[in-house]
Amino acid sequence: MKIATSKELFDRAQDVIPGGVNSPVRAFKAVGGDPIFFGKAEGAYMYDEDGNSYIDLINSWGPMILGHANKDIEEAIFKAVIGSPSFGAPSRMEVELAELITEMVPSIEKVRMVNSGTEATMSAIRLARGFTKKDKVLKFEGCYHGHGDSFLIAAGSGAMTMGTPDSPGVTEGTAKDTLLAPFNNIEKVKEVIASNKGEVAAIIVEPVAGNMGCVLPKEGFLEGLRSLCDEEGIILIFDEVMTGFRLSKGGAQEVFGVRPDLTTLGKIIGAGMPVGAYGGRKDIMDYVSPQGPVYQAGTLSGNPVAMAAGYAQLSYLNDHPEVYDKLEDTTKKIMKGYRKALDKYKKDYTMNQIGSMISLFFTEKKVADFDTAKSCDTEAFGKYFRHMLNSGVYLAPSQFESLFISTSIEDKEIDQIVSSFEGYLKSIA
Ligand SMILES: *Cc1c(COP(=O)(O)O)cnc(C)c1O
Repeated sequence: MKIATSKELFDRAQDVIPGGVNSPVRAFKAVGGDPIFFGKAEGAYMYDEDGNSYIDLINSWGPMILGHANKDIEEAIFKAVIGSPSFGAPSRMEVELAELITEMVPSIEKVRMVNSGTEATMSAIRLARGFTKKDKVLKFEGCYHGHGDSFLIAAGSGAMTMGTPDSPGVTEGTAKDTLLAPFNNIEKVKEVIASNKGEVAAIIVEPVAGNMGCVLPKEGFLEGLRSLCDEEGIILIFDEVMTGFRLSKGGAQEVFGVRPDLTTLGKIIGAGMPVGAYGGRKDIMDYVSPQGPVYQAGTLSGNPVAMAAGYAQLSYLNDHPEVYDKLEDTTKKIMKGYRKALDKYKKDYTMNQIGSMISLFFTEKKVADFDTAKSCDTEAFGKYFRHMLNSGVYLAPSQFESLFISTSIEDKEIDQIVSSFEGYLKSIA
């Protein structure tokens, strides 16, 4: 019997799913070609429906930090499923995971579970508005905070790749309550806040931006936001959906030593299951229903299978801090290999890296914000992407994404990644 190939599946998918994908970032529109359909993954590798294998440098956009099909996580999931996939009532694992999160991320005194990063940021913004009784929020150009209406203004990730930074369907009323500033520009933030004095509920930021490619905060930027928020009575929200439990067990806020009022989490927290969370200062979180007046709910929130998966992953990371050294070491080795290859072929592309996040930008400019990220040669990126894919390395199908290294990537994989990149450079030389 012939099993359906990626091509057949994509043809069928396009008839019944918009664009054939359930999330635009999975489409290959920006790089050319059709998306690949996967059937299995283990460790560092994903296996497609056509019999090919790839080294996975996306890891489900972050969650699979311990590689695919991790035995501890699988076991926790199996055990929980047998107990019942859902109670719709409180259960033990919600408490245990909440306790673990508050231990790992000290700024989070109380936490509410939701089902995605989008839900986490939407809920955190509503809470900030309800708590401060102000309407406006400030976000940064090129930062992505999920697909909530308030955030689809100069958003990164798929919204950037698709060239629809302002999505139809987002009302002008919503857009006017979202203020924008360039990432890494504290002076501009001060100006915007000054001209909206007393009206801003929250500043939301990816402390390390990952959705315009990986862009690090300049020294003093996060600290500057913290002091400004303190002075103006604004709630500082770190969107750590991507960086949480990735840059360290306490996230970017631990690495940079800046304490936000609220934090949003997702991705790694669910170990591949659909989980998000938002949490922070007790006095603010107590404003959430049923304790407080700000409504937020979820039929499947705190789902026992998702909680068990998340707990297995986070407790492993909490108990094995050396994981972060290994991840950084792996990422640096890839970067070093790339740099050497670039030198050999006399190219001076920019690479940004922190911990296990890394982006190669097809520009010689330093990339520190949305404008510099946009200066990249996306056509060259497309060629690079396709070359890597044909060499068995699966990258994010967009220039404007970070890669996410997993602990399953060892020297053998690093060698293949670097030599594939050299092959690409040779092919265009
Ligand atoms: C992925 C991401 C989100 C959205 O999370 P979903 O689970 O896709 O809804 C929000 N913020 C950041 C920083 C992200 O990287």
